[in-house]
Amino acid sequence: MSHVIVIGAGITGVTTAYALLRAGHAVSVLERHPYAALETSFANGGQLSASNAEVWNQWSNVAHGIQWIFTRSAPLLLNPKPSWHKMSWLAEFIGAIGKYEPNTIETVRLALAARRRLFEIAEAEGIDFDLAKRGLLHVYRDTASLAHARAANAMLLRGGLERTEVTPAEIRAIEPTLAGTFEGGFFTPGDASGDICRFTRGLAEACVRLGGRFQFATQVDALRDTPNGVAVDWSGAEDPDARGVLEADRLVICAGVGSRQLAALTGERLNVYPVKGYSITVAVKPQDVDHAPRVALLDDAAKIVTSRFGDARFRIAGTAELNGYNRDVRADRIAPLLAWTRRHFPRLDTSDVTVWAGLRPMLPDMLPRVGPSRRSKRVFFNTGHGHLGWTLSCATADLVAAQMAA
Ligand SMILES: Cc1cc2nc3c(=O)[nH]c(=O)nc-3n(C[C@H](O)[C@H](O)[C@H](O)COP(=O)(O)OP(=O)(O)OC[C@H]3O[C@@H](n4cnc5c(N)ncnc54)[C@H](O)[C@@H]3O)c2cc1C
Repeated sequence: MSHVIVIGAGITGVTTAYALLRAGHAVSVLERHPYAALETSFANGGQLSASNAEVWNQWSNVAHGIQWIFTRSAPLLLNPKPSWHKMSWLAEFIGAIGKYEPNTIETVRLALAARRRLFEIAEAEGIDFDLAKRGLLHVYRDTASLAHARAANAMLLRGGLERTEVTPAEIRAIEPTLAGTFEGGFFTPGDASGDICRFTRGLAEACVRLGGRFQFATQVDALRDTPNGVAVDWSGAEDPDARGVLEADRLVICAGVGSRQLAALTGERLNVYPVKGYSITVAVKPQDVDHAPRVALLDDAAKIVTSRFGDARFRIAGTAELNGYNRDVRADRIAPLLAWTRRHFPRLDTSDVTVWAGLRPMLPDMLPRVGPSRRSKRVFFNTGHGHLGWTLSCATADLVAAQMAA
């Protein structure tokens, strides 16, 4: 039995640990926070959305980024202050526009495999995470964006997705609580939603039952090859005197926006950029249970996604901001999410709202990096899942376990 270290206990690290334990490895997970899922896997949009697989590498998004540069409430916001990290990422993002179609099709295939696997795991391990298998409704306000959506839909169908166009009347029938005037939409019956944090922590408990070891409050500072494997130098994230070395046969980097720095320690360049987003979670009052949507929603123009967790919580998430590792929750970025919610759910009481900001670990071509490092055959990556880490992780975890076996 080989021993594998996994760095990071977000959704990608915990699904990787689970896949490796199921494949018969001994697994140690090192995480700098005191619990699993405290960074980007804490309060995201909640959608398991194969229908959101269209990659963002399009000239229209570049144009919007430039046009909205000084609009603080815009769905896409680019801090114009230059940094080598941001500029190189943007250059590579533009360079990947030519791969828009194959990368979208590849993403939808991965997402479909991941969705099947996630449902299996949740059932096998008895994880309760407010899973709602009620489908996902995309809505569009004008003819031009609906026409673009039709072209994108053709690619999604080529990737194997079941998805149909719906009329404004059908939108009202699918989600009666949604107010507003729409030109049309698309409905994906197989998409779902659920609480990523509850799933990740439930799966971490399943890993412990399978013999996995979690070492929390542990910051990985250095990585190196040894004659027989790899060694990790760590220090205590909460105890400055704690430090040590952990050795193993192999290692998987699943460190979200920290993966770039860890890759650099192995001598490899991995251009993961932190693309910031925000969420608000409305505490739904008992008298309002029928005033918030049950179906997951995606408003493409506003770049907003929503999920309902049980009766009592309604999550609204979105916006993309290129502003380095800044994690501040900015009032001017939360305001559009609240305004959107009030506009589309006028009967919902939004007086009790929890706000959050997270950093999507995004690679310029929007595909996750899954596989061995170019520098060391003992180091693997499963990272860079961008806006779809919750949707894709169960498939990429199985892929990395299979590659390790091979
Ligand atoms: C606003 C928003 C909405 C989103 N909505 C959706 C959605 O609806 N559907 C979807 O599929 N995806 C969505 N996403 C994307 C998804 O949340 C992410 O892709 C996913 O959570 C990334 O998981 P991860 O495990 O890679 O990173 P993380 O969850 O950040 O985990 C990485 C972990 O590694 C640890 N780490 C890093 N460096 C070190 C180190 N040196 N030592 C020890 N530990 C380390 C960190 O502490 C962290 O816990 C959304 C993201 C945002 C921000």
